[in-house]
Amino acid sequence: MNAQSPTLPDAAGATPVMAQFFEAKARQPDALVFFRMGDFYELFFEDAQKAAAALGISLTARGTHAGEPIPMAGVPAHAAEAYLAKLIRSGFKVAVCEQMEDPAEAKKRGSKSVVRREIVRVVTPGTLTEDGLLDARGANRLAAVAVRAGQAAVASVEISTGEVECLSLSPAGLGAALAALSPSETLVPDRLFADEESAAQLKAAGGFLQPLPQALAEPSASEARLKRLYGVETLDGFGALTGAEISALGLIAAHLETTQAGRMPALSAPRRVGESEVMAIDPATRASLEIERSLSGGRDGSLLAAIDRTVTAPGARLLASRLARPLVEPAAIDARLDAVAFFCERRALRQDVREGLKTMGDMARALSRLALGRGGPRDLGCLRDGLAAGSKITGLFAAPAPLDPPPPTEIAEALASLDLAAQPDLAAFRDLLAAGLSDELPAQARDGGFVAKGVRPELDQARALRDDSRKVIAGLEAQLAAESGVALRVKHNAVLGYFVEATAKAAEPLMKPPLNATFIHRQTLANQVRFTTVELAELDAKIAQAAERALAMELSTFEAWREAACAIAPAIQAAAAAAAGLDVAAGLAEWADDAGAVRPVVDRSCAFEAVAARHPVVEAAVRRAGEAFTPNDCRLDGAGAAAARLSIVTGPNMAGKSTFLRQNALLCVLAQAGAFVPAQSLRLGVVDRLFSRVGAGDDLARGRSTFMAEMVETAAILTQATPRSFVILDEIGRGTATYDGLAIAWACAEALHETNRCRALFATHYHELAVLEDRLAHVGNLSLRAREWNGDLIFLHEAAAGPADRSYGVQVAKLAGVPPAVVARAKQVLERLERETGAPAHLEDLPLFAASAPEPERHGPSAVEEALRALDLDGMSPREAMEALYRLKSQLS
Ligand code: ADP
Ligand code: MG
Repeated sequence: MNAQSPTLPDAAGATPVMAQFFEAKARQPDALVFFRMGDFYELFFEDAQKAAAALGISLTARGTHAGEPIPMAGVPAHAAEAYLAKLIRSGFKVAVCEQMEDPAEAKKRGSKSVVRREIVRVVTPGTLTEDGLLDARGANRLAAVAVRAGQAAVASVEISTGEVECLSLSPAGLGAALAALSPSETLVPDRLFADEESAAQLKAAGGFLQPLPQALAEPSASEARLKRLYGVETLDGFGALTGAEISALGLIAAHLETTQAGRMPALSAPRRVGESEVMAIDPATRASLEIERSLSGGRDGSLLAAIDRTVTAPGARLLASRLARPLVEPAAIDARLDAVAFFCERRALRQDVREGLKTMGDMARALSRLALGRGGPRDLGCLRDGLAAGSKITGLFAAPAPLDPPPPTEIAEALASLDLAAQPDLAAFRDLLAAGLSDELPAQARDGGFVAKGVRPELDQARALRDDSRKVIAGLEAQLAAESGVALRVKHNAVLGYFVEATAKAAEPLMKPPLNATFIHRQTLANQVRFTTVELAELDAKIAQAAERALAMELSTFEAWREAACAIAPAIQAAAAAAAGLDVAAGLAEWADDAGAVRPVVDRSCAFEAVAARHPVVEAAVRRAGEAFTPNDCRLDGAGAAAARLSIVTGPNMAGKSTFLRQNALLCVLAQAGAFVPAQSLRLGVVDRLFSRVGAGDDLARGRSTFMAEMVETAAILTQATPRSFVILDEIGRGTATYDGLAIAWACAEALHETNRCRALFATHYHELAVLEDRLAHVGNLSLRAREWNGDLIFLHEAAAGPADRSYGVQVAKLAGVPPAVVARAKQVLERLERETGAPAHLEDLPLFAASAPEPERHGPSAVEEALRALDLDGMSPREAMEALYRLKSQLS
């Protein structure tokens, strides 16, 4: 789809209009061109064929080119948004080519001249701003990646809030960093895109990948573009951006320049996020923990859906982004927890704040539409109402007296951003809109009627004239009918303006003397004849003029207000962000109350002590089924002093192993995102990286994970997990033959224990692994208990110390409805096997894991590797290269 349209014919000999189309298409060869023709957007040639197929609209032809009919498809302009949405979702880009002048203007240049048209915007997934095209509760980020001198960077912008971020990291971390942002569109320099391994990493993160020419990522071009974007002379004010960061930001600037055709969103200065500021969660872990989306792809069934009690769309987006990127700094986490705790303690205030928030629209997105010239009166209305609501909310905290003790920092800061009394510019803007905007607002400024009465006297005069004349016209109809004795009506349409209409039969006298002196014939239709009169024509002109004047005044007022909004964009963005922050804190408090969640203790230890914890999603499902969820404890100690570092979790199928593993991983996500946790208590030493892997056997249904993929993912854990990490491995090794699988599971467990030294839960159906408890210092056994009762298996879902005694596979088969004869036979076979092969034979004799011998530091590259990576080969003379080689060699010894 990104290739140039091969079937687009040569432009030579095109009609003037078609020549315009060819020119537009040449500018955006890989986009579908929406070519405005009056009330329609039309698509031609291959664009028409693709759009007709994707939209299910009919493919016709318009005129000919080079002797062939031109394939054409069209969509009505008033309904274009829905069609756009569908095309974008199907993976297309759309260039919107508008008429830039009134056809009447063009006529003035000569009867043959063509209406001027220009591409005003290229619609891509990452640059959408319309409510109709966006998920209100989901972020819409545009990201860009770049690699320079062995350093990678991810830059991202949320056009609707103007937030810009960049992150500098090692190339291996690109996938995880992108997945955390879940951008809807990612810009990639084509050289990086051509690299298979990198491209695979980027694809795994999801979203639409847009390769861009390498030249756009070159440092000098990027720097120039960034300066232009921000209107600055130097980038020094943004801190020491790396070359890769500048390239990535430059790609975004370049993309905005082409897609927004000159209009620029109000962007904040790039905020630099350290790689070490957020918990690293790779795409596979994100998917398997179902943090933002469930495995089926929807929001339902995800952790996010389970805890989201926000009442505004911006609040929902903020919560999603916090959950996607939990923090690692205990102080920062505590600041968020303080805010939640505050709202937990003050229920009445919380309800009032939530009621206030409900009256707020999406100020951030309204503002971005205004900044990009796509906004309308309703967007101004959204700002007016939002600022008023914010001011009312701040009032709640001051009445009847200021709170004692004062609210925690995060809330205090939010209130300061919403407080109009302390922000004269914002207050003045709100007052301007409160007095100036009507109550009923049209969607588009050109629909008029949104400037309130009394704001501009000239406008009121023009409107009065227009409206009075309309009244006169109503009177005129009666007068003309009475005078002529003909049943006639006065009507209006866009082409004729006001006219008199009568049926063909009734109109006959009007066309004969004496009445034809008054009634001037205009148009004859099948059953109707239309006339005008001198008086009617004069009134019509007067009304049209007055209406035109009124509209022009309204449009200029709109423009002035729009500019006023842009002038204080940062303050409006801050207010919008503050409201979202309050919504998240109050929403999390609401959920904590609903779910019985408590404040976690997050510190720098290596502890993990969960008491009576629950899985927020499974619990909700189990409850809906009218059953109770069994809470479970889990203790791991990374230092290996108070408890095991690695727990081997066994138990029969359906006993609750997977649930137990995930619930503990989710506690880490929730706590570090700044949410309360569904438990009686949790003490957590911050987790730097979280890993979750599910054995291929569990995953085959999705048709994605094969045993190979499982091993690749496991390899990533073994090379990346640090002593601060938290790992859950669910039935790893299951996708292959028993002995292979057991061997791999065994080796992985040993490596996690000896080399990675991370906190880990390892669920397995290889009960043989239980012996590791005796062989390794910090391994413990846990099992999810089940009990056999009258030959049936009862699941207790209770985690207890010690391994499971047996796997109860045969009992599970019975529960699943396998016919009794087969179950009985299986029992016989099992007894026989157990008698003959005996227990997990000879594994006790295995020599200890070799890697337990001290190994050189394996996290991060060696000094020589670093030095090698830093070499700029293209910028070296042969002599310098030789010297560098010697230097490297000497570094080795
Ligand atoms: P396993 O991985 O051991 O096969 P799962 O974790 O998939 O088992 O759990 C199977 C089912 O048991 C879950 O879908 C859930 O309905 C139920 N379950 C799991 N844990 C609990 C629990 N702690 N309390 C109540 N029901 C549970
Ligand atoms: Mg399982």
